[in-house]
Formats: sequence, C-alpha cells, structure tokens
Amino acid sequence: MAYEKYSPYNSFRAGQEKAIHDIISAFEHEKQVIELDAPTAAGKTVILYCVGRILEKEFAMENIRFTSPQVSLIEQGNLFDLPKLVGKSNYSCEAIEGCTAAECPFSSKEEGFVSCDDCTYRMAKRKFHEAKFGATTFARYLMDPTINGDTQVLMIDESTELENALIERTSIDLGMDKKIPNSRNWKEVDALLKSTNTYLATDKARFDITNHIERRYDELRLLSQDLKVACSSYRKELFNDGNGKPDDKEIKKLRRMSSDYMHVNNQAMACGRALRYINSGVKYALVGEKEDVWNPNIGKKVPTIKTYFRLMDARLPFQDLIRDKEFVILASGTPTTSLLTNDYESVVMKHPIDKSRRLIHYIPVGKMNNNVKEKTAPLMAEKIKFLHDLYSRKTLVHCGSYAVAELLSEHLYHLHRNIILQDRTDREGSLLHWQRLDDAIFLSVRYEEGLSLDGPEYPMNVIAKAPFMNPYDAYVEQRNAYDNKKWYNLSLATLVQQACGRATRSPDDYSETYILDESFGWFYRSFNYLFADWFKEAFIWGR
Ligand code: SF4
Repeated sequence: MAYEKYSPYNSFRAGQEKAIHDIISAFEHEKQVIELDAPTAAGKTVILYCVGRILEKEFAMENIRFTSPQVSLIEQGNLFDLPKLVGKSNYSCEAIEGCTAAECPFSSKEEGFVSCDDCTYRMAKRKFHEAKFGATTFARYLMDPTINGDTQVLMIDESTELENALIERTSIDLGMDKKIPNSRNWKEVDALLKSTNTYLATDKARFDITNHIERRYDELRLLSQDLKVACSSYRKELFNDGNGKPDDKEIKKLRRMSSDYMHVNNQAMACGRALRYINSGVKYALVGEKEDVWNPNIGKKVPTIKTYFRLMDARLPFQDLIRDKEFVILASGTPTTSLLTNDYESVVMKHPIDKSRRLIHYIPVGKMNNNVKEKTAPLMAEKIKFLHDLYSRKTLVHCGSYAVAELLSEHLYHLHRNIILQDRTDREGSLLHWQRLDDAIFLSVRYEEGLSLDGPEYPMNVIAKAPFMNPYDAYVEQRNAYDNKKWYNLSLATLVQQACGRATRSPDDYSETYILDESFGWFYRSFNYLFADWFKEAFIWGR
C-alpha cells in the first residue's frame, strides 16, 4: 500500500513508513494493543495521524480518537486537519461577555435547550462528532460517554504518563485532614504522619475506610444533586426572568456555583469508582501525606496530614479504558506499557538523531541524597559552572527537588551572574525568564518531560540530581513492596531518559547531557535493561 498520500507532508522521514506498515499489519492480525516506541524527532504524531487516516479510508473504521494525558499536546499541538474538542473553559461564550462555555446557562440535557447559532463550543463539538477521526483531551475523553462509548480506535500519544493519569483519576482525598494549626514543629508533624500511616496500614482502617467511602459517596451524591438544582435554578433566574444580561457579580456567582457543583460531582464519581475497585478485589493503598494547606481563617498555610486512597497499579482502569475498543495505540519515546498490561505488541523505531549530536556523559561529582547533599553541593556548583562555560549559552539543570535547586543556587550565585532558580509559585514564569536571557543557568524542578529546547541556544543539559522518588513516602513504600520496585525503577529510568532528550530535538540539532549525580551510576549498572538502545549507544562512562 502506498502511504505517502496520507502524510500531511506527502513524504516520510526515515523509519516512519515502516512503523506505519508494522502498525497496520498488527491491526490486520487483530492485535488489540500496540505500543509505538518512537524516540524524539521520530515524528510519532505524523505516524499516528497517517495510521488514523489509513484505518478510516482503507479499512472503513469510524470513531477514531486521538488523545494524550499531556493536555498542551492536544490544546496547542499541531494535529494537522483533525477536528479538536477540548475542555469547555477553552471556548469563550459568544453570548455572555466574560464567560466561557463552562458557564453556559443552557444545558443540552435540559428540556427546550436551544444553543446560540454562533456558539464556538457547540460548533466544535458538532464538527468533532461528525468526523470519523478527531482529537480530544484525555480528561474530556474519559468523562464524556458520547466520545468514549463509541470509540473504535483509540490513539494515546505521550502515553508514558498514562499510568499516573489513570491512578490519579481513581485516587480520592478521604477528607480526613489532620491540621496542626499554628505549628511549624516538624517533629510533631512527622510523629502524626507516622501514627496516621501506622493506623492506615491496619485491617481495621481498611474496614473503616470502606464504610467511610460508602458514606461519603452517598453524601456527595446528594450534595451534588442539590448543587445541580441550585445552579440550574439560578441560571433560569438570571436568563429567563427578563434580566437578559447578568452583571459581573451575578456571572461570578454562577461561575462559583457551577464550579462547586463540578467539584462535588467529580468527588462523588471518584468515590463510586473507588468502591467498585475495592469490591473487585484490586490492591490499593491508604496513605497519609504531609502537605501545606491554605487556611483562609488565619490567612496562611498550615502543615496538614492529608489521607488518600490510591490504587497500587492501573491495570484494571486500563482494561476499562480499552474495553470494546478494536484497536489501541500507545505512543511514547519512553513507553511504560508493561505497567498496564502484558498483552501488547511493540513497534520500535530507531533514534533518527545521530548519537554524536546527543551524547550523554556520566561524570559523577558526588551523591545528592539528603545525608550528603550539603557536602556535594559546592563541588556540583563548580562543575555546573564549568560545563556552562563550555558554551556560555542557556544551560538547563535538572535538580529533582526545590530543596536541591535552592541549595545549588546558594553556591552558584557567587560563581555566575545569571542564575535562575525556579520559583515554587511561578514555574512557567521562571522558565520564560531564563529563555529570554543569554548566558544563563536555569535550576529547574520537574522539567524532565514536556519541554522542547531546540536550536543552538540550548547546547548544555545537566542532571544534577537523578529524580529518585522518596522511598520512605507511604505510597512509594507500599508500591515497592507490592511490585518489587518495578514501577519505582522504571519511573526513574523513564524520567532520566526523558530529561536527556530535552535539548536535541531534530536531526540537525545538537546538545550534550551531563549526569553528575553519583547515585545514577549504580542504578544504571543494576538496571541497564530498563534503558532503551538509543540511550545506551549515546551513553559515555566518565571518571
Ligand atoms: S450556547 Fe450560547 S450561552 Fe451557551 S456557551 Fe454557547 S454562546 Fe454561550
């Protein structure tokens, strides 16, 4: 079959045509789940687009949905001519100034509903439903039965995050907060956290909490119905009683009411899902976590122990997701499909960028764990400055946590004039600030994924702290016991590989990555099999 005619560019990059052929062949052989393992610059969106069009035109498939847990990929990504349906708040309301479609006073579920002729949201929705192949956000896909119910082919781009997204969706805040007002006594907080987690690990807690979720589910459902009715009557009052044009105060009130309803309704649905999983015997964890929670009464954050229900894995939610789907493609540069199912086939693409343009040097400076990071930090700062000076352009440093970023900044401020420390309250702003400067070092946190730094301005990428999860975190501890650290190790290997791909984005691009955290060497030796061939061929052991 000639595939070029389905390419939006009428041609293909190396490896794309073969990947399309292999995926179509798997479909013909009635495989249900395919993993497309496609590194940076392989052009996986083009591949998915072509596969969708081929399935539509050559195999008469309908309701082909393209989605991704990465919201920006759907909202801002180039998806060629695919009609997109995103969250309602992205569409401005053409009838009421200052409103979005999320505050629409008219519900299509209510009797007598007539949409405004020029409603951008309803037009996008119509276009999406009329098309045989369209794109939508993952949240929208999951919540809308008119979309997920009749999907025949499901494509999930950037699927690395899928497991987390499914677990997040089935997690619930148990609403049993223990506040420690006016206290910054961390010993007291730690003691309370420990006693909470000790209790949550008991059979009694499991019994109590199942009852608690049942009661909460009933309460939330009733509350959600009341809020829905209140919201609907207020809408009617505003729009049907001759007011015609509500003022700002009324619009604000309607927004607040509708967001309260949505919040409670989502919580009720999450409790319903949790009960279903508990009753089906799926393994789950009950955990207490330490968080700073805003207290409006005293106008500041107070240390709080929050409690959560979380599944141990997302295998059952994944089966729910793919049930009745004829064909499912999970595409990623660092796939984690093995966490979701054993029953899948892989289509693996070679890295299209020559390894000399994306070398990864391991030069251990020291360990960055809590016990020794103070000692390592000055040496690490000097090394970062040295590496930055090789190009004196924009250097991205992955710090793993704000504590490490702040520690490194203390040592780097004396060594270089342009040190940008990621602001805890303005992550995007910090990134943009650094990108506007020349000759600057960015101490970043959690930018291992979803960042594309292409071009000669970004020749240096440094991993100062390998993103190990805290093994003493209650969920991590229980999950490690459950799957013998499979998730923990795979997550670390995935994040490191993702981090290494931030600054070489196309075959002509160039950057060097330096891993300085000594703990990574041991991990890499022990779990080499978790790393892709493209990573291993570019990896250089240093001294
Ligand atoms: S149907 Fe009318 S009121 Fe509702 S969101 Fe669309 S334009 Fe606004």
